[in-house]
Amino acid sequence: MKVVDLIKSTDKTAFSFEILPPLKGTGIEKLYQTVDTLREFDPKYINITTHRSEYVYKDLGNGLYQRTCLRRRPGTVAVAAALQNKYNITTVPHILCSGFSREDTEYVLLDLQFLGITDLLVLRGDKAKHESIFVPENNGYTHAIELEAQINEFNQGVFVDGSPIKVTGTPFSYGVACYPEKHEESPNMEQDIYWLKKKIEAGAEYAVTQMFYDNRKYFEFVERAKKEGINVPIIPGIKPFSKLSQLSMIPKTFKIDLPQALAIEAMKCQTDEATAALGVEWCIHQCRELIAHGVPSIHFYTVNAVNSVKEVAKAIY
Ligand code: FAD
Repeated sequence: MKVVDLIKSTDKTAFSFEILPPLKGTGIEKLYQTVDTLREFDPKYINITTHRSEYVYKDLGNGLYQRTCLRRRPGTVAVAAALQNKYNITTVPHILCSGFSREDTEYVLLDLQFLGITDLLVLRGDKAKHESIFVPENNGYTHAIELEAQINEFNQGVFVDGSPIKVTGTPFSYGVACYPEKHEESPNMEQDIYWLKKKIEAGAEYAVTQMFYDNRKYFEFVERAKKEGINVPIIPGIKPFSKLSQLSMIPKTFKIDLPQALAIEAMKCQTDEATAALGVEWCIHQCRELIAHGVPSIHFYTVNAVNSVKEVAKAIY
């Protein structure tokens, strides 16, 4: 069953979560532990992020540094396959413009099809750390909607060079990202929703939000999107704070606001433990309100927060 059907097939609000592939060389065991920790809440699907290559600098010890380009977290496709195989839970690998050419994308699609993985989250991806604006790969794409077009063509049996695919498998279905507090590059919310609508019209069956801490922003966003004719599920993305440093880092990195009630409580936190307790309390409150509003599903960001997500899930499911 594809993600939209999985969400619709359950009476109660569906539970899902996102994980990162392990850092290169660190093995997959920790990811299995994450899934084992959260399995009791019946995840309908698990997302696996994708990370482009980046420049790292190695200190050669003689005052010189060697610059190399590497992927610190490779393995999205393999992790998706390993989890789907081990747990029989639908996995949703993220597929990016960032760092990938059209041919790279085609090879990823072929691998996924052979593995029987047909749900995707289609994204532009983050810009490279050393770049101030997003720069597409040679023969790559600038926006998620272009990647959707390639996937649609693939589904229709056509490779990027226009040649036919002799044996077509199950078509890919996919979702896209959206931003209740606006994507940072968008000049205004109207424009951002305009492009979201285009992504839905291009074939996305649902949208998953950037994390947010103020439910009012999500509710307003969903209302606005509906008025513009966006009628697919808009799945709220939730992340409990778990470390003191995140209280300033998350708003800065993701360009999101904390509501004043949370900001006041956050100022009182002096330790990671106090922050994690606040994070859990706030997310339970957020999730209860979202469920009362009848959201189709709640998607949890688990990075550094697996135990907190467990606490929240225990309280709401
Ligand atoms: P786009 O849809 O391309 O939008 C980017 C900006 O361009 C927006 O301002 C939009 O309004 C505008 N826009 C869209 N289409 C057009 C167009 N055709 N012409 C002009 N303007 C346009 N990043 C990763 O690197 N790896 C991940 O695994 C990952 N997972 C994510 C999961 C979720 C749920 C979310 C919300 C984000 C994730 N990101 C990930 C981050 C995401 O890739 C960045 O936020 C990126 O900057 C934008 O991606 P997008 O798919 O929304 O891009």
